[in-house]
Amino acid sequence: MWLCFVQPLMTELLYLPDDDTTYSFEATVETATEEYLVLDGTYFYPEGGGQPADYGTISWDGGEASITDVRKDHGDIHHVIGDLAGPLPTAGTTVSAQIDADRRERLTRMHTAQHVVSRVVLDEYGATTAGNQIHESRSRIDFETVEFDEADVERIERLSNEAIEADYGVVKENRPRQAVEAEVDDGRALLDLIPDSVDPLRVVEIEGFDMCPCGGTHVNQLGEVGTVTITDRTSKGKDTERIEFELTP
Ligand SMILES: [Zn+2]
Repeated sequence: MWLCFVQPLMTELLYLPDDDTTYSFEATVETATEEYLVLDGTYFYPEGGGQPADYGTISWDGGEASITDVRKDHGDIHHVIGDLAGPLPTAGTTVSAQIDADRRERLTRMHTAQHVVSRVVLDEYGATTAGNQIHESRSRIDFETVEFDEADVERIERLSNEAIEADYGVVKENRPRQAVEAEVDDGRALLDLIPDSVDPLRVVEIEGFDMCPCGGTHVNQLGEVGTVTITDRTSKGKDTERIEFELTP
């Protein structure tokens, strides 16, 4: 969905369009400060679209930094340093990077589950996803315009898990904007909010089930998501409903 769309940056985002499973890589330092490192390219996911940043470590000859946040900044990606051991690397230094794979995998499964639940709610209730926040252990989605009761919540959970059990393939690729605009269902993506200059669009398609532009990380087969359990439902003002869910395992 549009909320997790990422515009082109100067630091190349190497996980785009379809490599969500590279957790170790080498890169070249462009800028190094006490606060952050900028690389020529990265597989780290920078916070955005309701998906938190990856964590990990970056090491080089004589030093190592723990990475505790990753942020977009005017076209660059800042790998924010937690602990630093040894002197900072100079520009041009080759570094080895390791993403915290457990955390990334958890966020990837959660984010993909969000697509599934958003699609189920659009199909069954005609409600759009107004916002979402992914966490490792629990995530939430806000829907409008709709009102759920307990039976609705059970139905959303059941239909989401049926889709996951069907184990649809997930395709991630760049497509011409015009084609995306023609194909995406009304209410599934707020394309008007993505600047016209962004073309092509990175699309996430759950085959036979859902398609929307999105810049986040996603599983390759829907079965990898696990089982969705909706743990809470709250009304957030008129006609807006918030659903919280967890995943097992
Ligand atoms: Zn997504």
